[in-house]
Amino acid sequence: MELKLYNTLSRQKEVFKPINGDKVRIYSCGPTVYYYAHIGNLRAYLFMDNLRRVLKYNGYELLHAMNITDVGHLVSDADEGEDKMAVAAKRENKNPYEIAEFYTNKFMIDLDKLNINKPEVICKATDHIKEMEEYVKQIIKNGYAYETEDTIYFDTSKLDKYGVLSNIKIDEQKAGARVDFDNHKKNVTDFALWIKAPENHIMKWDTFWGKCYPGWHIECSAMGRKYLGEHFDIHTGGIDHIPIHHENEIAQSKGCTGQIPANFWMHCEFLLIDGGKMSKSLNNVYTIADLEEKGFSAMDYRMFNYTSHYRNKLNFTWDSLESAKVALNRLKEGYKKHYDGKENVEDSVINEYEQKFNEAINDDLNMPLAMSVVWDVVKNNIKSPKFAELLRKFDQVLGLKLDEKDRIELPEDVKKLVDERKIARENKDWAKSDEIRDKLVQMGYSVKDTKSGMEITK
Ligand code: AMP
Ligand code: ZN
Repeated sequence: MELKLYNTLSRQKEVFKPINGDKVRIYSCGPTVYYYAHIGNLRAYLFMDNLRRVLKYNGYELLHAMNITDVGHLVSDADEGEDKMAVAAKRENKNPYEIAEFYTNKFMIDLDKLNINKPEVICKATDHIKEMEEYVKQIIKNGYAYETEDTIYFDTSKLDKYGVLSNIKIDEQKAGARVDFDNHKKNVTDFALWIKAPENHIMKWDTFWGKCYPGWHIECSAMGRKYLGEHFDIHTGGIDHIPIHHENEIAQSKGCTGQIPANFWMHCEFLLIDGGKMSKSLNNVYTIADLEEKGFSAMDYRMFNYTSHYRNKLNFTWDSLESAKVALNRLKEGYKKHYDGKENVEDSVINEYEQKFNEAINDDLNMPLAMSVVWDVVKNNIKSPKFAELLRKFDQVLGLKLDEKDRIELPEDVKKLVDERKIARENKDWAKSDEIRDKLVQMGYSVKDTKSGMEITK
């Protein structure tokens, strides 16, 4: 079946074909590790995970790289403010490397809790200063950069076109957004590749141009080339990366290698909170720990994300998270009902569901539509292990761990009692059923009779 993905570059869905055989090379812009990732950030990585899972489900092998931005960048998008790592170092009285290590670890724990499969390569910017320097040298050699007193700038006027991704007109572009402002820039869209560090700058390296630090965009170009080559399949990020970060990555690659580095550019829309932006002043920048404090799990949040397509905005409210939690439990109960079922279903029924599910995920990762197929399977009145098997297959894409729920291995004597109680209930022998239940309770097991059967927990 054809897999179609929306490509921001062409502004349409395109049939996906890897450049080299069945191996897909992907680059994802990773986190800036100066603070905890919020649930908006994590939406971008849930999207990344779904993309990985859908590609794997389609039989592709993956080589996927994600960077960790541990070199500071400016706090504000409007060229002002301090370096993010410097701010964090001051706030926590640590050095920037300690800050980066702490928040990288926290980020990795969040990914695990969300059951996000990690990219094959996770690379830190600070480990690749040399590669970045080489990249900048090549851009200069090719005539796409110029040096001022304190910065090496990319010269966007040398490109055939700047702004291919967002289709922006150069005069509409805000001068120097998210890069150091410098009156010596030749064009408003020019951006810093390499910056000569002032005396008191916290992170700097000895390079060809003296003590310097890299501009924001160069790390992704240099690490992408190192791990995936000059031309790979897919580049991902949040929607806010389109107008500046990804435009500049494309510009740099054109200046260095002469080509746009990826065929497909995919972007995840923003998570809103109560219909608006997340902001510290509104005290609504939530982390996974905040959700846990209120009794939710990261997996409830994963489930919540399937209520919207990745290219649509998603509005977070506590009520909608509660609904997702309830839905996830129902889904697991439904799975268990089929798992314990004894009935048979025709293969044609299974195939039809599978076809619909595949069509949904292969239509630009339409997870809400795929979930509607999942619910149809769960709600099917026939209780069949074949449906359970199908749901386990779907779960390779969903990553909801449907078969994990408290599936405790019962000791033999308990199993025997459970089977005896099942028979008693089938024979409507309620007295015996109650007697066995009491016995199980005494042995430390709690027994619940649900619509889909008996639930035993320790
Ligand atoms: P950062 O750590 O700031 O570099 O951001 C990490 C990722 O989160 C990037 O891909 C951003 O585009 C993405 N992102 C930031 N805020 C949100 C949000 N509210 N919703 C979805 N993605 C976001
Ligand atoms: Zn990037």
